[in-house]
Amino acid sequence: MNDCLFCKIIKGEIPSSKVYEDDSILAFKDINPQAPVHILIIPKEHYDSVDALTEETAPIVGKIMLVAKQLAAEFHLDNGYRLVTNIGENGGQTVKHLHFHLVGGVKLSEKMN
Ligand code: 5GP
Ligand code: ZN
Repeated sequence: MNDCLFCKIIKGEIPSSKVYEDDSILAFKDINPQAPVHILIIPKEHYDSVDALTEETAPIVGKIMLVAKQLAAEFHLDNGYRLVTNIGENGGQTVKHLHFHLVGGVKLSEKMN
């Protein structure tokens, strides 16, 4: 998508602090971290959000989970971490390209809202 911020990051048109990349997935540090470790994990294919996934495309989420697990180990999140994906306006989604937040390095709030 031409006007998508994360697609521009994937294409290298906007710089990012990359921590993982393969054929289908990119992970980079969030520009406004909410915790000592705050990484965004995204598919290289553009999907607006979880809502845009189909039976055919949903397996990308499983791959993202495995990347998250690997990054959590690399960043020594041994006491746990959180994976979050926001969907739509009420979900607090600001960038309309499917992404998972990997957040950790501190005891996180138990609040979900
Ligand atoms: P959302 O609110 O859509 O779930 O999350 C979007 C995230 O993208 C936010 O945590 C925000 O800080 C991050 N973000 C927005 N613009 C940029 C950017 O240009 N670079 C990076 N690395 N992160 C960004
Ligand atoms: Zn995109």
